[in-house]
Amino acid sequence: MRPLSVPNLSTRTVYRTCIGMALPRHRTRLEALEQAVVDAADEFEAAAEAAKLHELQELAKKPTDAADRTQLTNTYTSRMVPEDSAGNEFYTLLKRVRHKICPLCGIRDVATLDHQLPKKKFPLLSVVPTNLVPACGHCNRLKGEDVPKSAAEQTLHPYYDDVTDQQWLFARLNESESRPPEITYSISPPGDADSVLAARIVHHFQTFQLAELYGANGGREMSNIRGFLRILDAAGRATYLAKMEHSVAMDKDAGGLNHWRKALYQALAGNSWYINGGFAQF
Ligand SMILES: [Zn+2]
Repeated sequence: MRPLSVPNLSTRTVYRTCIGMALPRHRTRLEALEQAVVDAADEFEAAAEAAKLHELQELAKKPTDAADRTQLTNTYTSRMVPEDSAGNEFYTLLKRVRHKICPLCGIRDVATLDHQLPKKKFPLLSVVPTNLVPACGHCNRLKGEDVPKSAAEQTLHPYYDDVTDQQWLFARLNESESRPPEITYSISPPGDADSVLAARIVHHFQTFQLAELYGANGGREMSNIRGFLRILDAAGRATYLAKMEHSVAMDKDAGGLNHWRKALYQALAGNSWYINGGFAQF
């Protein structure tokens, strides 16, 4: 996961802008909900910071009126997402991340905003900036309308969870004579990791099906570097792979110690079979 800084946007400003062009009969209703939206944002942010989003069940019940709930979710879909809508400037701003890379998977392009807590179940959070995370379409679909039922079921939130200072993502090269060798990924949180955080990291990895995604991309990367490795001798290959591992690990914004390429190069640099000729099989 790639950490992101918390968006510097006021919930009140975003909400007011989004509802600014609503039809008068909807706008009156939405204006009456403004303070409830701001209060919900405060509650959400405190819970996200404390990794307690699973404790917000009461917030899901608000507001009770069905028409209010519909107008709040419409505020995202009709008043923020469309290019000609009043709040589109914020939609575009929130989607803008370095190299367009989805922070949830760290590989695919950002295509949308994912609601950390789904708008259908938490309508008051429909356009709250801190609940809107840039995401690729695939990650967005995989998470769907999941709501954490326990602390361990919270996927990592890029604005609040920076877990790049310890390595928990590892890769392993599986050699085989009979079938194409492959690279597999797994999670192994450090021994002194907080147990809830460790469970969340595993949950995030499973929810977004990162083992499959990283395995496929790892294979592609090995295919891409095969020609280059061929012109080096074994010592040169070992040095190159170790330097790649080190340089990726230094790039904290891109995932640092948990970048899928860091784990890949670490596995390759430590594999004598690969260095001494196995690389040619990819
Ligand atoms: Zn993604």
